[in-house]
Amino acid sequence: MKLVRSIVSIVLLAGLATACSVNPVTGEQELSLMSPAQEVAIGAQQYGPSQQSQGGRYVVDPDLNVYINRVGQKLAAVSDRPDLPYEFVVLNNGVPNAWALPGGKIAINRGLLVLLEDEAQLAAVLGHEIVHAAARHSAQQQTRGTLLNVGLVAAGAALSSQGEQTAGLAMGALGVGAQAWQAQYGQGQELESDKYGIKYMVAAGYDPQGAVELQQAFVKLSEGRQSGWLESFFASHPPSQTRVDRNREMVAQYTGGDRNRAAYQRAIAQLKEDAGAYDNYQQALQAAGDDRARAYQLLDKAVKQQPNETLFWELKGRLHAADEDFSQSAAALDRAVAANPEFFRPYIYRALAFDQLKKTDNAARDLEKSMALLPTQIAAYYLGEYALADGQQQQALEYFQMAAQGGGELGQKAQSRLQQMQQATQ
Ligand SMILES: [Zn+2]
Repeated sequence: MKLVRSIVSIVLLAGLATACSVNPVTGEQELSLMSPAQEVAIGAQQYGPSQQSQGGRYVVDPDLNVYINRVGQKLAAVSDRPDLPYEFVVLNNGVPNAWALPGGKIAINRGLLVLLEDEAQLAAVLGHEIVHAAARHSAQQQTRGTLLNVGLVAAGAALSSQGEQTAGLAMGALGVGAQAWQAQYGQGQELESDKYGIKYMVAAGYDPQGAVELQQAFVKLSEGRQSGWLESFFASHPPSQTRVDRNREMVAQYTGGDRNRAAYQRAIAQLKEDAGAYDNYQQALQAAGDDRARAYQLLDKAVKQQPNETLFWELKGRLHAADEDFSQSAAALDRAVAANPEFFRPYIYRALAFDQLKKTDNAARDLEKSMALLPTQIAAYYLGEYALADGQQQQALEYFQMAAQGGGELGQKAQSRLQQMQQATQ
């Protein structure tokens, strides 16, 4: 909850510091609700939790992240605010999406990377996101409560990753879909980001035609409106024919520039090689509810194709837990944690297996680790129970208060624990 409190206080402080200033990208006068230092602070604070709640970092091929960051930094250096502490990460999420936090903290999902053809198209995405950060679009949205939501999301339960069909897997009180942070930009901000993004592309030596192609592809994709639509790039950055036309006009004045197709294809080669494995994983998720045997089969295939993907081992652990084989579950989750020790979710599932195996010390350790990565209601609740059983009243109180704020079934359970504790002290 500390996180939420500090976000709230930053936002409240920001409200007092309202002033008129010149937009660093457009040069226009505007009402500035936040100082640049406050923006940077919010971005830095939210970057970790935002990554966690959307699948964590993609770590199967760390070189991919190095490459993406290099392209991003190249564009950031020629932007209107090269001084921001830019960072670019790849998230382990199959939904096509990309986002920017204030202060230049940017992320792109592996699900979007596989839809792109070359570095120019990648530069179009990253350039666009850089403008959202550089032109302070989130700061302008602040009055709509966008930034407040950022903090509350991080504190909420975030167990199921976006775009995944967890139908049928008995999650009970544990599973709560995450409402991950999504900025809602207006059409004006989108056009502005396209426009200056193209400018940055050209300044960095890229062929801006990539931006037109990207927008065309998005319009086409958005017509399909497949599952995961609401969490995808298209929901937060609505594509439109207007944007295609505007981009085309902008680009007409430039010729040439780098495409770097070969370099891009090399960079995403591992992702492409693993496409079949991720496909098997998605099918296993869908089969998990009504055809467990088939789900295991598909997962075994996926694990054989790519043994270092934390998501595959995590689902295996969840299937074993659903079958009440908690030793097997914990063993599979060991592999999930080993594959990516910096992702909060496998720790929670392993803790639940440890809890069933009566290894509460191990469970508590996993829950604490998960809380450090992303505070969740479920981890807070169980840590409250363990603290209570240990006779640590004050700690139990704090955890239950945290869990109670999340609402829902677990929130009510935490609430009644708090009442019991209060009565006990009267
Ligand atoms: Zn956008």
